[in-house]
Amino acid sequence: MTTNESAVGEADWRRATELIRAADTPALACHVSPDADALGSMLGLGLALARTGKKVVASFGDRVFAVPRLLRFLPGQHLLVEPPAYPAEPDLMITFDASTMERLGLLAPHAGKAGELLVIDHHVSNTRFGTVHLVDPGAASTTMVVEELIDRLGLPIDREVATCLYAGLVTDTGSFRHSITTPAAHALAGRLLATGLRPEEIARDLWDRSPFAYLRVLGTALGRATLEPDAVGGLGLVWTYVTRADRAAEGLPYDEVEGMIDVVRRVDEAEVAVVLKEDDEGGWNVSTRSKGTVDVARACAALGGGGHPRAAGFSSALTVADTMAALRPLLAPEGSRS
Ligand code: 5GP
Ligand code: MN
Repeated sequence: MTTNESAVGEADWRRATELIRAADTPALACHVSPDADALGSMLGLGLALARTGKKVVASFGDRVFAVPRLLRFLPGQHLLVEPPAYPAEPDLMITFDASTMERLGLLAPHAGKAGELLVIDHHVSNTRFGTVHLVDPGAASTTMVVEELIDRLGLPIDREVATCLYAGLVTDTGSFRHSITTPAAHALAGRLLATGLRPEEIARDLWDRSPFAYLRVLGTALGRATLEPDAVGGLGLVWTYVTRADRAAEGLPYDEVEGMIDVVRRVDEAEVAVVLKEDDEGGWNVSTRSKGTVDVARACAALGGGGHPRAAGFSSALTVADTMAALRPLLAPEGSRS
């Protein structure tokens, strides 16, 4: 699991801070369907920069632009603009938690035309699609990279900025349960807590609340969960799916089912867990999780997606059966890289 990737080099830090200091109107963008790390890293840096008088815009390139309900507590939402209002050719564009240009969705063309493109990320698969890169695969979250950047800019981390950074940290470490939970991750949590943020309120917003409709849809999806003990080289596969019709029957928006994988992945008999989620347009977003012996990022990359070795995803225009048929053979526990 330790790849001897050196963390970010001094020259990159220097260039990044120079570019940001010189930019009056930095344009920020995170990956589509943002999670807490994507949105938290973007809004955390956005708030820190806005307080120095810079005119910050921030966005993400979803066709239907909406902040997921469970992330609406994040401070800094006033910085958000919809993609049509985003500068076409920003002097400086900064991306967050996006491992490829495509992950910027509608904002990818803007990144292609930016004068300078600063890429901030922690995916080992990052394709280094910018002009300057702060990419640290050893960082538990993109918000960890942003913390160091804010420090190097000499800017303060107040409670609102800390709330954004903490949300990304606590999400990407699975509440400090995943293997990426380093001493540095706990040290950052300690520093952020010291600003007075409320971890219990953040945890409740992120994981411990749902509309009643979620229970109904979860019940439907769990009722059709399938365990395949022989799959994944005999280590087991558990999977299920949730359709837009399931959600429509209960009036449940798409973003409410993002966390369903966290229920499914707990199954002892399966090394890999998969949840296929149909969006409102009929496309499928597939979440995959591994306990460690299968590199799901590699499997998902082969199907046009990506992510981390133990948590990855991809989009599919195929049926559920065909998507699973394409994915299943890619889930072999070849070697043990992690
Ligand atoms: P989730 O299953 O929570 O949506 O995603 C897990 C991880 O996989 C995250 O790091 C996320 O950014 C990444 N991921 C999910 N879907 C895609 C995709 O379609 N393309 C890429 N490149 N990464 C994805
Ligand atoms: Mn992340």
